[in-house]
Amino acid sequence: MNFKANPMKQDEAKVRALEILDGFLEQNKHRKTSERYAILDAVAAMRDNFTLEELGRKLMNDLRFPVSRGTLYNTLNLFVKLRIVMRHRILNVTSYEFCRNEGRSIKMVCSTCGKVSLMKSQVIDNTIDTLHMKRFKCDSYALYLYGICSTCQAKMTRTKKKDN
Ligand SMILES: [Zn+2]
Repeated sequence: MNFKANPMKQDEAKVRALEILDGFLEQNKHRKTSERYAILDAVAAMRDNFTLEELGRKLMNDLRFPVSRGTLYNTLNLFVKLRIVMRHRILNVTSYEFCRNEGRSIKMVCSTCGKVSLMKSQVIDNTIDTLHMKRFKCDSYALYLYGICSTCQAKMTRTKKKDN
């Protein structure tokens, strides 16, 4: 079964991820199993951060392609190594994020619930543009800020009030 859909219809980040995966599998003479491509399809379809369980459900329900937990785990590890996905570990929850090349992005990660929000900053853009980088031409960046989102802050305030 060939799981690669027409690349013209896919977004740029997915095309890039497919190239990385193809290149790796060819170079290392690994079989191009349909599981790996189905998992990549599901990963690219995830809008936010996701857990291994959520990805498994997406494969099962949306793509009708059930994959064992072990295969999911190994494939996600491979994707992390190839920088197709980023792994976040917040409290005791491991979540994954598909690396879309957003150019210049600042991500605010809630260290309580794991929610990721994007922000832009002209000041940081300018700072990066004026940084002196030795033998390096920077074309994009991703900056992760860790803290507590407003929903979690509100929950904490409510819990505190109850305790008093
Ligand atoms: Zn939160």
